[in-house]
Amino acid sequence: MKPVLIKQTGADGLSITWDDHHISPLTFKLLRDECPCAECKGETVLLHSYQPQAQVHRPGRYELKSLQQVGSYAIQITWGDGHATGLYSWQYLRGLCACNECRMNKPSS
Ligand SMILES: [Zn+2]
Ligand SMILES: [Zn+2]
Repeated sequence: MKPVLIKQTGADGLSITWDDHHISPLTFKLLRDECPCAECKGETVLLHSYQPQAQVHRPGRYELKSLQQVGSYAIQITWGDGHATGLYSWQYLRGLCACNECRMNKPSS
């Protein structure tokens, strides 16, 4: 599975059209909060130094600066605050899909 089209849909989000014709609306807020890099997801949490409150107010945090394809498997997003270490693989992006269909198919937990 891979995207055939990635386009910005406004000031706060983008949409990905997949090769199976599925369309995933993704907000920048969701993408940034789910950043898969080690800094956002990894060691910092274990060290208890993760401070979501402090990060929320960093200017540009949810601002997309640039988006670049990495190889044939992922995109890299550079955010307004300079953060750019997250690689979003196609599989990961599809897992974040927040469309009605995917939300209904997700197990309710
Ligand atoms: Zn990150
Ligand atoms: Zn979906």
